[in-house]
Amino acid sequence: MLEVEQAKLALEQTDPEIFRLIKEEERYQFETVRLIPSENYASAAVMQATGSVLTNKYSEGYPGKRYYEGQRYIDQIETLVQERAKALFGVEHANVQPYSGSPANMAVYYALLEPGETIMGMSLPHGGHLTHGWNVNFSARFYRAVQYTVHPETHRIDYDQVRELARKERPKIIVSGATAYPREFDFKTLGEIAREVEAYFLADISHIAGLVVAGVHPHPVPHAGVVTTTIHKTLRGPRGAMILCRQEHADAIDRAVFPALQGGPHNHTTAAIGVALREAATEEFREYARQVVRNAKALAGELLERGFRLISGGTDNHLILIDLTNKGIFGKKGAQALDRAGIVCNYNPIPYDPRKPFSPSGIRIGTPAVTSRGMGEAEMRQIAAWMDQVIAAPEDAELAVRVRGEVRELCRAFPAPGITVTDG
Ligand SMILES: *Cc1c(COP(=O)(O)O)cnc(C)c1O
Repeated sequence: MLEVEQAKLALEQTDPEIFRLIKEEERYQFETVRLIPSENYASAAVMQATGSVLTNKYSEGYPGKRYYEGQRYIDQIETLVQERAKALFGVEHANVQPYSGSPANMAVYYALLEPGETIMGMSLPHGGHLTHGWNVNFSARFYRAVQYTVHPETHRIDYDQVRELARKERPKIIVSGATAYPREFDFKTLGEIAREVEAYFLADISHIAGLVVAGVHPHPVPHAGVVTTTIHKTLRGPRGAMILCRQEHADAIDRAVFPALQGGPHNHTTAAIGVALREAATEEFREYARQVVRNAKALAGELLERGFRLISGGTDNHLILIDLTNKGIFGKKGAQALDRAGIVCNYNPIPYDPRKPFSPSGIRIGTPAVTSRGMGEAEMRQIAAWMDQVIAAPEDAELAVRVRGEVRELCRAFPAPGITVTDG
C-alpha cells in the first residue's frame, strides 16, 4: 500500500494536470450509478498489478521461447496465468497476450482463415460486435462477411435462420457473441450448425465471461473450438483479452498473436489477468455473478412495470436493451439526461431500428458495475424509479440535480472496489 501511495504522490508532483483529471474521473466513477454493461470496477489488487514494474519488460515470444533474456519471472507469471485460464474455463490451450478483444478476434481469423474467406457473425445493429463482420471493420474488408439477425418479433436469435444462412453461404467460421443481446446463446445448436457446414465455431464471450465461469450462462466448451473473451467486462479484470482453444488450434493461434499481429506482450496486463482469474475462481465471485443476473432481472421487471419497452421483453443475463420510442424520446437524449442525473448508460441501436446509428432509438444498461459495489434488488428498484422520472422529464434541470444528489447518497453507501474517495 505504501508503494501505491508513493506512486500517487509521484504522479501528483510530476504531472498535476493528468493527476487532477484522474482524480476527477475517480470521483465520477465513485459518485455515479454506472450502468454501462461492458464496464465494471476492477479490484485494488488487479490495479496494483497493472501499475507494476512489469510494464518495464520486453518479452516477445512465449514462456521458454523468448527473443529476450531476463525472463525468469515473466515466464513464471505468463505460465501461471495460462494455467489459471485453462483451469477456470476447462480448455486445452490459452493465449493470454492479445492486447484487447478486437485484436483477439483478428488473431483468430488470421489463424484459421485466408483473406477473402467467409465470416458469418451477428449483425451489429442486432447486437453483434464490429469485429464479427460489420461493414466499417477490418473483418468485413479482409474477409467476406455475411450476417445473421435476430427474429423481428421475438428479438431472439433465430437458429433456423442461422442454419439456413450457413447452408447457403458456407462460411469458414461462424461467430457468436454480442454487445447488446439480453438473452442466452445456444452454443450447442451453433456448434451443430458449424459442424454441419464444416465451419469453425468461434464463441466470443467478452460480455458474459464472468457469468459463464459462474455457471449462470451456458458454457461454450466443448461446442466451440475457439473462445475469445475480454477480461475487463463481467470478468472484472484489467483491459485485455485471451484466446482459449482446443490443442489442435494452439500453434496457429499462438503464431497469429505473435509474431503475425503483435509484438511484445503487456506483461503488467498479463499479471493483472492472473489476479482477476484467481478472483473469478472463488465462491465469492460466483455469488457476485449470480447477483448480477438477479439484479438485471429485478431492474428489467421494475422498468417493465413502469411502461418501458424492453427488447426481447426482458433479460437472461447482465444487460437490458430499452426501446425509448414509446416514451417520446430518442436514445441519445435519454442517455444524456440520465448522465446529468448521475446515471451513466449509453445510447444504442435496437434491432430493426428505424433511426440512424448516431441517433438510435434505444439505450443499453447493465448491472455488472453496480453489483460490484454490493447493490441488490432494492437498489435496482430505486434506480428504475429514478430512470422513470428522468426519462419522463429529460429537460428538467432541477429534477436532474435532485436525482444526482440522491444517486450520490446511494453511491456513498456502496463504496466502489478499488476506489477510495476521501474528502466529502
Ligand atoms: C467488447 C467486445 C469486444 C472488443 O473488445 P475491445 O477490448 O473493446 O477491443 C469484442 N467482442 C465482443 C462481443 C465484445 O463485447
